[in-house]
Amino acid sequence: MREDTTYRSAAEKLWGKAGAYVHDSYDQHRHLFPNLPDQLPIVIGITAYGRCIGLTRTNEALDGPRITIASNLFSRGTRHVDDVMVHEMLHTSLILAGKPSDHDTEAWYAAIRELSPHVLGHRLDVKRGSDRKSVRLPNPNYVPGGDEPRTIVRKERVASNHEKVSRWPNSFRPDDYDGGPTILCPTY
Ligand SMILES: [Zn+2]
Repeated sequence: MREDTTYRSAAEKLWGKAGAYVHDSYDQHRHLFPNLPDQLPIVIGITAYGRCIGLTRTNEALDGPRITIASNLFSRGTRHVDDVMVHEMLHTSLILAGKPSDHDTEAWYAAIRELSPHVLGHRLDVKRGSDRKSVRLPNPNYVPGGDEPRTIVRKERVASNHEKVSRWPNSFRPDDYDGGPTILCPTY
């Protein structure tokens, strides 16, 4: 592919240094995801959901997945951009592998257990479903001598790190994490 027809050069024309940076970050982390292509479209803009700073989408109108990175992320520093790129690259890798790619799946949890030593520099022992615990409660339908048991078992949500898992890896960085240099990113 000619240099001027890469997604990187297109992104650099559209978003300057920020556009080039997301592609360099993609190259830098691609060894973590052997099934990812050499390059894919990376869009910088305002993501469809307010609370998300990145998004991975694929549909029939596109010839493959593309990644969207929020423009305001670049003012937090390039190492935060890297974290969101890794997060979105994991979604992309799972999609291309034909696996479920949502956060609340075994595939997501297995991937972050495997990748954390390489991305965070330490193991992460997270288990899906640990936010639900069985609790035994009195059965409101119980009557002495009736057919209903005296107690019933319910699954209840308990505090867990699923919310953090769904924002991996950035949510596991220390509070004083050095975000790296910022990049001025044009917004539209
Ligand atoms: Zn996600």
